[in-house]
Amino acid sequence: MAELGPALAKPLVHRLTVIGLGLIGSSIVRAARRMNAAAIIVGADGDAKVRRRVEELRIVNEVASSLADSVRDADLVISCVPVGANAAVAEAIAPHLKEGAIVSDVGSVKSAVIAALAPHLPRGVHLVPAHPVAGTEYSGPDAGFATLFRRRWCIITPPDGADGAAVACVKAFWEAFGSNVEIMSAAHHDLVLAITSHIPHLIAYNIVGTAADLEEVTSAEVIKFSAGGFRDFTRIAASDPTMWRDVFLNNKEAVLEVLGRFNEDLAALQRMIRWGEGDKLFDLFTRTRAIRRGIIEQGQETAAPDFGRRTGENGADGQ
Ligand code: NAP
Repeated sequence: MAELGPALAKPLVHRLTVIGLGLIGSSIVRAARRMNAAAIIVGADGDAKVRRRVEELRIVNEVASSLADSVRDADLVISCVPVGANAAVAEAIAPHLKEGAIVSDVGSVKSAVIAALAPHLPRGVHLVPAHPVAGTEYSGPDAGFATLFRRRWCIITPPDGADGAAVACVKAFWEAFGSNVEIMSAAHHDLVLAITSHIPHLIAYNIVGTAADLEEVTSAEVIKFSAGGFRDFTRIAASDPTMWRDVFLNNKEAVLEVLGRFNEDLAALQRMIRWGEGDKLFDLFTRTRAIRRGIIEQGQETAAPDFGRRTGENGADGQ
């Protein structure tokens, strides 16, 4: 697996608190530790089993027993809980944040998370939302790994009037993990991610559900012949149900907008097949093939056959 560069000579912050120690949170603490990005790393999670497991894994300096305790004296707090849990987290931590603290998150939706966090945060606390476009279909603290964010994009969506030094600090953090950082508005992020991530997940959930309901095809056949494209959908459709329920409920507008376009294009494809318009099908498939080549050239995918599965080359994808 690809390695990270040398550790930083000096930590970027003194005290880092990560709330929610699942796939993303536990990857952040592992990367922060490996890269010396924070002098002290505190972890917090609502689930006692997760807290115990993180203690066993020894990936943080302290596991806090409450959200309130976890953020006392923290310079940077990163909320890594499902999108719909951010308001409750903000409410619990707000009275205990120190002046000048930075609060960030990793949510796959940005406008709704800003709306959930911002009203609770006291004056003098800086909100700098971020979304690492990296992930796997696994969840929990054992699923995380330090190199998850390497050569992946991290999108930062600072609200209007955000503190420049706070934005620079969060940017430096993600760069230390090997990410390429891009800054954009939350609304633009939500539209871009609706087409590149949210709708593809919806399609995967739908097609796997349809196959499961198809009475003429047995489930044994679905498994046996799954290499014919279906297998890749099943991997995506194995993603965490809580996380994805929250994504769709919190990015409703952009998802429905893109879904409308998708349905129109699907209807056009249906017509091409019905009327035997082979040239049109061929032209579309040629265009889409070029898009895949572009993604490989930009280092966001492997060119290895079978998506690098046989070589173990492709560790993470963007979500
Ligand atoms: P995960 O593995 O399920 O971890 C989330 C953790 O947060 C769980 O341990 C969960 O505990 C805990 N939690 C839930 N509500 C909480 C609360 N109110 N207070 C404290 N802890 C709480 O999820 P994940 O995949 O890391 O996703 C976390 C966030 O990252 C989501 O916002 C998601 O949109 C974003 N993200 C995910 C991916 C991806 O590919 N997975 C990629 C980019 C961004 P329980 O065991 O009780 O649920």
